[in-house]
This record gives sequence, structure tokens and C-alpha cells, in this order.
Amino acid sequence: MAVIIDGREVAKKIKEELKEKVNELKEKGIYPKLAVIMIGKDKASEIYVRNKSRDCDYVGIEYEEFFLEESITMETLLNLIDELNKRDDIHGILLQSPIPEHLDIRKAFNKIDYRKDVDGFNPINVGKLLIGEDTFIPCTPLGVIKLLEQYNIQIEGKNAVVIGRSNIVGKPLSQYLLNKDATVTVCHSKTENLKEITSKADILISAVGKPKVITRDMVKENAVIIDVGINRTPDGKIVGDVDYDNLLDKVSYITPVPGGVGQMTRAMLINNIIKAAEGK
Ligand code: NAD
Repeated sequence: MAVIIDGREVAKKIKEELKEKVNELKEKGIYPKLAVIMIGKDKASEIYVRNKSRDCDYVGIEYEEFFLEESITMETLLNLIDELNKRDDIHGILLQSPIPEHLDIRKAFNKIDYRKDVDGFNPINVGKLLIGEDTFIPCTPLGVIKLLEQYNIQIEGKNAVVIGRSNIVGKPLSQYLLNKDATVTVCHSKTENLKEITSKADILISAVGKPKVITRDMVKENAVIIDVGINRTPDGKIVGDVDYDNLLDKVSYITPVPGGVGQMTRAMLINNIIKAAEGK
């Protein structure tokens, strides 16, 4: 039977350690603070933002929210980012996505000072990750690697297959795995013979966003399965990408959804805010 990777437990442990770090910073007169920009109304984003504020509260990070009207102009958004870039009391800036279509999210990410870019989406940080320099690694990829490390799962030399090539999950995760000396294959919607590739994976990571896109026949015996997907079923349940129940007796480790990667993503945001406050 597979070991079920308990993201909730690992995230809890990490948050306790981060709380200590916040206390140490405060003793030095540094009060870590996050600015969150949210534009318009989006149910899922509202939940994410609420969770982020709770996590900040829990570890003692200060938090300032900027709720902007859906109709704002790009100029207003860029001006706000500029203002936050200049404020010494703000260490991290987070732009909650999605943002309305008339706004250019890339331009906004590019505007966030790379030293306050706790999401790791600014091209300077993306480039640093590519060349293996210390940087802000996007929260989900960072959370996945921390989970593997907490369970002492070897990455070096292993055949890692990442399904999904988004800028926020698939691409940075593949790069980070490569930096950790895995042999990495990236698959996506145009990949031919997906099953042939996934069935050779020692570590298989799915970041697709479709329920049961990973089935038993696609997976190698004793593989490690990391499910990044978050999908809502018609009856309102949250499930991942992986046919979880049918994989349990075939694989060595597996993450549940919920209770897996999602919890780590939240903890890694806190990690990155502290990193920004430390000025590292
Ligand atoms: P995205 O839609 O930007 O990317 C999905 C990727 O899957 C694309 O690269 C696409 O090519 C690929 N894909 C689509 N159908 C495929 C198929 N049939 N076979 C192979 N590849 C296919 O999504 P994203 O933002 O990267 O998020 C992916 C999933 O991860 C979503 O369910 C999202 O909700 C979830 N997510 C979870 C967390 C977390 O903390 N757990 C964080 C971010 C995203």
C-alpha cells in the first residue's frame, strides 16, 4: 500500500518553524508585511485571499489588502504596484489572479519589484531559477519539492515526469526538478503517447486540472505520485487529477487532494514573504 503524503501535517510543521523565524525578525525590528492586490470579484480568489490572510495572521505577518474595481485601468494598477514597490514597510507584493481580461497580467508581474515578488513570477526571478541562482521559487513548485524532501524521496537521478507546462506550475516545477538533478520530461496537451512516457516515471507529477487524467495503467509500479490538480466535481467535491483510489496499491507514495500539495502552496507563500523580509 502507498504511503499517503500528508501535506497538511508537513505544512503545519513548516508553519511552526516559520512562526519562529517571524519572531526572530521582529526581535531585530523587522515586521514582515504582505500587500495583496485583488481586482474585481471572483469566488475562488476570495477564498484564496482569505486563506492567505489567515496564514499570515497565524505566523504573525502583517497584511494589507487592496481591493480594486473590475473596471480599473492598467495605469492605475501599475501606479499602485509602483507605490507598493517604494514602501519600505511592505516586503512582499502578491497580485491575485485571474485579473480582468482588459488588463495585462504579464505587464503587472513585470512591474513588481523582483525583491518583493513572493510569487516568483517576475522575469528576473524566472531567469534566476533557470540558471539555478537563489531566488523566489513559485509557491506550488517549491511546495512539491519540500514535500518530496520531507519524505526523504530521492530526486537526484530519478526520472521525473511533469504533466502541464503553465508558467505558474509546470514550467517552474520542471526547472526546479532539473536543478535538483532529476531527469525531467515535460508533457502537455499536445504530447503524443502520454502513457508511454508516464509509465517510465519514478516521480510523476500531474498539474493538468482534469479529474482522472492519470489512470492506473499510466503509472509504473512503486512510482511516486504528486497530484497538483484541483478540480470541482458536479456534486461540489474537490478532487485531483489522479485516479487516487485505484492507484493506492500500485504506487509507493501518493498525495491526496485535498490535504496534499495545496496546503504546501499556502505554507510556501509564508516562506517567501519571510525570505523577502530577510532581504535574501
Ligand atoms: P493550466 O490550465 O495553465 O495548465 C494546464 C496544463 O495541462 C497545460 O500545460 C496543458 O497543456 C496541460 N494539459 C491539459 N490537458 C492535458 C491532457 N489531457 N494531457 C496532458 N496535458 C494536458 O493550469 P495550471 O494553472 O498549471 O494548474 C493546473 C492544475 O493545478 C489546476 O487544476 C489548478 O487548479 C491546480 N493548481 C493547484 C495548486 C495547488 O496549490 N495545489 C496551485 C496551482 C494550480
